[in-house]
Amino acid sequence: MPEAPDLAVIVEARVARPLVLRSLATPDFEGDVVGKAFQGFSRRGKFLLAHLSGERLLVINTMLTGALQHCDPTERVAKRTFILLTLSDGWQLRYLDERKMGMVYYITPDQLPQVPRLMEQGPDVLDEPLTFEEFSGRLRRYPGEIKGVMTRGKVVIGIGNAYTDEICFGAGLFPFHKRSGLSPDGLRRLHEAVYRVPREALPILRKRMGDSIHIKVRDSLKVHNKGGQPCLVCGHPLAEVTANQRITTYCRHCQPEMLVRN
Ligand SMILES: [Zn+2]
Repeated sequence: MPEAPDLAVIVEARVARPLVLRSLATPDFEGDVVGKAFQGFSRRGKFLLAHLSGERLLVINTMLTGALQHCDPTERVAKRTFILLTLSDGWQLRYLDERKMGMVYYITPDQLPQVPRLMEQGPDVLDEPLTFEEFSGRLRRYPGEIKGVMTRGKVVIGIGNAYTDEICFGAGLFPFHKRSGLSPDGLRRLHEAVYRVPREALPILRKRMGDSIHIKVRDSLKVHNKGGQPCLVCGHPLAEVTANQRITTYCRHCQPEMLVRN
């Protein structure tokens, strides 16, 4: 923990567009948040929690398109910037969201249960892995397509659209295969890939991202959003489908729709 004088204090707050902000702690977000110090950050699945002094929390659910930008205040304000917090250390923290899908909650600690979906999430994919029995036990409640089941975050949290594609590829499973139709071997491969794929990606992402935390590093992905490009394993062009505004990319050859037995 940094010493108290090192903590960044919010010296100015501006809500450029109020659409994504839910200030449950007070109706006066801009007035109340000034003078609060950042005491630490934690993560709960896809939610980022900024712990502030004075019994306040900023809970950020970026959904698909939200991002935090940590930059010099003189840097050009991107078009879809919603909230700007100027800090005592000379930096600015901004929340931007290309498609306004995310949400920023300003709450007191006892209001955590009021943040939709925060408390009902499964265990985090980067925490101690569930055993195969625990994993398949949690999965049993969700019979639908693997892609949908995994992205919903009820089995494990922290996996989004892109990494579900990477995991399915790593497991050699067709993403729209029904969970209920998976063989025991398919289930084992899914369990293994769920914990292996994000762990392999983490050091690469940390290195590529550096200080530009608002940039999505995607060039280390093997399949997601690479429709038409050759599969890294077999060379066949990758297939891509879009449903519910979500892109799914997979290899027809390595992730066959029908499990053929010879
Ligand atoms: Zn392939």
